[in-house]
Amino acid sequence: MENNKKVVTLAYGCQMSERDAETLTEITRRLGYLPSDDLETADLVIVNTCCVRESAENKILGKIGELKKLKERNSNVKIAITGCMVQQPDALERLQKRAPHVDMWSGTHNLHDFSALLQRVEQGEKVAEVWQEPKTILEVTPLAEKGKLQANVNIMYGCNNFCSYCIVPHVRGRERSRKPEEILQEIETLVNNGCREVTLLGQNVNSYGKEFSPAYDFADLLQQVDQIAFLIRVRFITSHPKDLSDKLIETVANGEKLCEHFHLPIQSGSNFILECMNRKYTREYYLSRVQKIRELIPNASLTTDIIVGFPGESEKDFEQTLAMMNQAHYSQAFTFMYSKRSGTLAAKMEDQIPLDVKKRRLQKLMSVQNQESLEWRQNMIGKLVEVLVEGPSKTNPQRLSGRTRGNELVVFNGNLETIGSLVNVRINEAGSWTLIGKVE
Ligand code: SAH
Ligand code: SF4
Repeated sequence: MENNKKVVTLAYGCQMSERDAETLTEITRRLGYLPSDDLETADLVIVNTCCVRESAENKILGKIGELKKLKERNSNVKIAITGCMVQQPDALERLQKRAPHVDMWSGTHNLHDFSALLQRVEQGEKVAEVWQEPKTILEVTPLAEKGKLQANVNIMYGCNNFCSYCIVPHVRGRERSRKPEEILQEIETLVNNGCREVTLLGQNVNSYGKEFSPAYDFADLLQQVDQIAFLIRVRFITSHPKDLSDKLIETVANGEKLCEHFHLPIQSGSNFILECMNRKYTREYYLSRVQKIRELIPNASLTTDIIVGFPGESEKDFEQTLAMMNQAHYSQAFTFMYSKRSGTLAAKMEDQIPLDVKKRRLQKLMSVQNQESLEWRQNMIGKLVEVLVEGPSKTNPQRLSGRTRGNELVVFNGNLETIGSLVNVRINEAGSWTLIGKVE
């Protein structure tokens, strides 16, 4: 096999998009391409895109523009643009006009057709293919890379929820769950290759297996994954609050490897806005779920996603979101300004909020949450926590870093030989973004 060709894969977006990018790198590896980070010597550049917010799209469009100069310097390099941005209704033609230097366009549903398309591109053809629906069901390309401590595993694809602001159901199709046997098999293979922590991925993992008969749900899957030998930790994202069952909370409470961390996006603390968002829960219901988690798992970490400036959001609505931060006690929150996505219901709503108001609200929300997060970390001072050692700290290579079961980042002095294993760390300081401690 020819193996002197090089591929650079640029991955944007959520973990699912990242996993797709890994799949693409693996497909090209099988065609003789070596993964690389150096654009100048690349034979193929893949940009796997995200379109969840305009800011992501602008960044990617900037990158695609830069690649035009690369192509001018090296006319042999092939450029492929894949994923969510290309899959958006009516996007392809617009993108093609804007970036005629691109050799291949493909969407989310024909990911597994990439090999055939690439072979045509290698022959000098320009190709563009976007399927409206997934044709092959749930094919998974196992990754060959060995020694990776952590891995993302898709358990389902697509989304049925149609939150009114969100483009995801429009570019990822309807919900499809992978068979439990296939998921378990993939994790076993990863573990045999050295993986110790998996994150199970779905837009709404709580509705995993809804179509299965006999009944088998996400909690059942977690119980089975928990049994896999040599696996140390199991994480999962994302839990939609409307489908978070008592059974799931109990399963996490009783599990051995199941990490006590729930990413439970609230999006807004106002019932009026939640209804306009089509989230299908109220703030009261959400808080009752939080209470149940705290009751069964007192040390659980809770994180969230929040959007400010959704159409029609008044100061009062926003204040209810702020109030939520002091009630739910999140260890971390991912906060976003509402971004209008064409094709979604919210894009057509009246009373879009001006940018300066959105910016002000975001600043305020972030300052309230930063204080909350700091308090969360300060409460951990003095505690002994279990840390999976990941490697040298990015900010200080003299130290090691790893994560708690609650997904908090911990930095500590330690032995390089402990990388990949569990250590107990006594927390003695709460840094601005991390915990600092000492191995015991
Ligand atoms: N399936 C996950 C989220 C996927 S998108 C869930 O339901 O929680 C990740 C986050 O991006 C969302 O939780 C939301 O907070 C944010 N987001 C999605 N669409 C957005 C938009 N149009 N503008 C701003 N933020 C958005
Ligand atoms: Fe988007 Fe809502 Fe589906 Fe999450 S649940 S992907 S926010 S539509």
